[in-house]
Amino acid sequence: MSRASINDTFVLLIAMTIAAILGWTVRGRHDAERSAARIEERPSSGVRVSRTATASALRHVSAELPRVPPTDEAVTRLAPPHVLAPIAEETEAMPPLKDEDASWRPGRDADSPRPIIVPVEGVAPSAMRDMFDEARGSRRHEAIDILAPRGTPVIAADDGVVKKLFTSVPGGLTIYEFDPDERFCYYYAHLDRYAPGLHEGQSVRRGEIIGYVGTTGNAPEDTPHLHFALIRLDPDKRWWKGTYVNPYPLLAASAAR
Ligand SMILES: [Zn+2]
Repeated sequence: MSRASINDTFVLLIAMTIAAILGWTVRGRHDAERSAARIEERPSSGVRVSRTATASALRHVSAELPRVPPTDEAVTRLAPPHVLAPIAEETEAMPPLKDEDASWRPGRDADSPRPIIVPVEGVAPSAMRDMFDEARGSRRHEAIDILAPRGTPVIAADDGVVKKLFTSVPGGLTIYEFDPDERFCYYYAHLDRYAPGLHEGQSVRRGEIIGYVGTTGNAPEDTPHLHFALIRLDPDKRWWKGTYVNPYPLLAASAAR
């Protein structure tokens, strides 16, 4: 091997070594940067957005939109979901609503009647017939007749309070029960008799026996039935005042007993 080619080889070796060292260093830096980027891309890898930082970011968003009060509601509307996510994770479950009205269901407005059951023992919802708009003499029926043998127990359609025990010419022996919210009144007529001890002011539970099917008032003697009506009470909550509401859909939808 000539001296010149040894020199050339030596220079080449040095050049390759330098290139290798440089290459390793550069690759190492890229790897480190990629690792850092991966950590930033994975918010769940122990890197948590602090509530203070997020709140500060949210204040910034709010500050750009004048006249928006910095309420939680405003924050919810303005902040994109991923900004709120860490807060949602750290916040305890929402406290229950103060209004614990058990009758409330999504989609039901506060004006809707409460769910009720068929108020005659042993009668299925499928036995109901919508006779609310039928004529009875010169007026509209505005109630549902539930046929059953004389003496069949009449049960409370809903929890409530016996507001009035009344005897009338058309209704005979009747009960007016207010629901717990005093928004609606349940009217039971043509009773054969009341449940023993039943009195005005008494609280009753849904399904509790309050009377028995009969033919008092203007019911045909050979057709014992319960005449059941649902009345939306006027604001002054008088048992004899209100607006008749068709209970048929509620009865038809009620759970069978
Ligand atoms: Zn009737």
